[in-house]
Amino acid sequence: MKCDVLTLFPDIFTAYLNESIIKRARAKNLLDVKLYNIRDFSSDPHRTVDDYPFGGGAGMVLKPEPIFRAMDLLNEDGMQRKVILLTPQGRPFNQASAEDYSKEKKRFVFICGRYEGIDERVKTLVDEEVSIGDYVLTGGELAALVIIDAVTRLIPGVLGDERSIEDESFSWGLLDYPHYTRPREFRGLSVPHVLLSGNHKEIEYWRRKQALKKTVKVRPDIIKKMELTELDKKILSEIDAYDEDA
Ligand code: SAM
Repeated sequence: MKCDVLTLFPDIFTAYLNESIIKRARAKNLLDVKLYNIRDFSSDPHRTVDDYPFGGGAGMVLKPEPIFRAMDLLNEDGMQRKVILLTPQGRPFNQASAEDYSKEKKRFVFICGRYEGIDERVKTLVDEEVSIGDYVLTGGELAALVIIDAVTRLIPGVLGDERSIEDESFSWGLLDYPHYTRPREFRGLSVPHVLLSGNHKEIEYWRRKQALKKTVKVRPDIIKKMELTELDKKILSEIDAYDEDA
């Protein structure tokens, strides 16, 4: 994944991009992030980036000029870019979007808003408006990091074992099943017997059942949209909480 980030607070990114899997992905050139401070593109002596809203109302609005000027600079290299504006009004980002983005050949631009938001005319530069959830953050930086993180871990070569991706929440439609590691007994809590049995068929069945159970309980909306296999239907009939007609 290659991306440019337009933000008023580039330092927010530095710590996260310099740790763990994301740091290693950058070292292997599987992730390239360039940070641009929107303030550097202000043309007035006070480096102003915001102004009062026309029509009145609370809060300040990010001015269009610095963002247009930043985009002009980025476009100088003639590279194809997909421009994403982070906003609570955008299309919800989910695992399917992360998978699509992980195959994208174009370089991404993430525009992070602040204050009351961004002058509407900036949207003429934007390919997609994206939200990371139905809540309002103080700025788009965390949203950009969430997207960068979710996409990067899907890029081949980023995770040590690619099976981690195939086997987790959303990748097979359901929420993930429970995981355990050593010790077998901890403060009176034991690891489910089946996981110690070495019977792979039974383990697979147990995991599918746990994943279905969890999803029915926490995210019944996912189950309703899924195409269930005959095995899933059988397992669900064993789960009390599931009501097909609900
Ligand atoms: N007035 C805006 C509204 O009600 O839609 C909210 C502005 S918010 C305080 C400031 C900035 O945070 C936004 O411009 C956007 O970049 C970012 N932001 C806030 N919530 C977000 C979300 N759920 N997803 C993506 N970006 C978000």
